[in-house]
Amino acid sequence: MIWYPYEQMKTMKAPYEIVDAEGVYLYTRDQKLIDSVSSWWSVIHGYKHPDLTQAIVAQAQEFSHIMLGGLTHEPVQKLSDKLQSWLPGDLDYCFFSDSGSVAVEVALKMALQYYMNRGKERRTMVLALENAYHGDTFKTMEAGDDEDYHFVLKAYGPNPHVAHIPTEIEALERAFEKYQDRLNCLLVEPLLQGAGGMRMYDVSFLQKARELCDRYGVLLIFDEVATGFGRTGNRFVADLVLPDILVLGKALTGGYLGHAVTVANQKVFDGFYDDDPSHALMHGPTFMGNALACSVALKSIEIFETQDYMGKIRRIEEITRREMEGFSDPRIREIRILGGCVCVEVTDAAVLDGYQAFAYERGVFARPFLKYLYAMVPYVISEEDLVKVLDTMKAWFRNQ
Ligand SMILES: *Cc1c(COP(=O)(O)O)cnc(C)c1O
Repeated sequence: MIWYPYEQMKTMKAPYEIVDAEGVYLYTRDQKLIDSVSSWWSVIHGYKHPDLTQAIVAQAQEFSHIMLGGLTHEPVQKLSDKLQSWLPGDLDYCFFSDSGSVAVEVALKMALQYYMNRGKERRTMVLALENAYHGDTFKTMEAGDDEDYHFVLKAYGPNPHVAHIPTEIEALERAFEKYQDRLNCLLVEPLLQGAGGMRMYDVSFLQKARELCDRYGVLLIFDEVATGFGRTGNRFVADLVLPDILVLGKALTGGYLGHAVTVANQKVFDGFYDDDPSHALMHGPTFMGNALACSVALKSIEIFETQDYMGKIRRIEEITRREMEGFSDPRIREIRILGGCVCVEVTDAAVLDGYQAFAYERGVFARPFLKYLYAMVPYVISEEDLVKVLDTMKAWFRNQ
């Protein structure tokens, strides 16, 4: 029996069974649905993209997977070279893994060991944001601030090596003053906090963060697992403010296979690079640098670069702003829009009860959570389909 994610198995409603998928559409036996979730924000080019499928097929005919322990291969070398030249600044060193959570774990482990290797054993504290989400593994649950994971706090008590602050410059300054040389890193989802409620904040917070990290010698880590590849209307938020470590996942492979990467800058890499074997990064997921995943990631980046994806995302944002302009309802607390993300936050989670079935009837797949009704559509969506997704949201409030 399948144990489904984030569900009370005793009371969960039956999931929709998908029998086919193409472009922005998911097909059940009796309905054609626009996927407004992009399979957890990853399927940016849509489903059954012939070039992406072909990249996987062609690679499978060579080899599908070869471990990176003592071995290497062309797909992983090419992807690493591509990321090195495509990512901003000196984010040049690519450590691959099989999921976003693991890639964030790797970033935190890197940051901790970076200072240990330099004899700064006191620097163990992770500074993170309130309402942060960084994945489902243990250290990422601690670094996150997701109510669903507060059972960890209940079980173990608060972790003295993690602190959370709101996205306010004053709080940031106070935290750096308070923790000083105990601070190891500042870990953030830049500009857009996804699973914590599609919360958006200003780039000035990140600019201040960069300044303080430099002043206090603290590593800045951007978890761009969700924001990377255009979602905020920037290619990467790292194009605006440069972190020391950048984490990418979700859309890295166009959502075709699970893969992620932790990219370190020169300074971080140099903290490991010497003659002492105990200074090596001791990590190595079995499926890191998987050849199918690397091949499809390369093709995904090529499509992103050559087919004006930033233009597509700007168009999505423009249409969304136009369609949502002037729309309000007493049950809506706020409507937030940034790049390819729109979120309608309601005053009470009960307001969204039944929305999924309502949208299904109208040909849209949606998955609101808590007080957040949102859409993160595939970038290839047509204007007509995007308007339909937004109209369905508006109709829910008008029809009730
Ligand atoms: C989804 C997500 C993760 C976790 O990625 P998985 O591949 O699900 O492990 C980490 N950080 C952020 C910001 C995410 O949105």
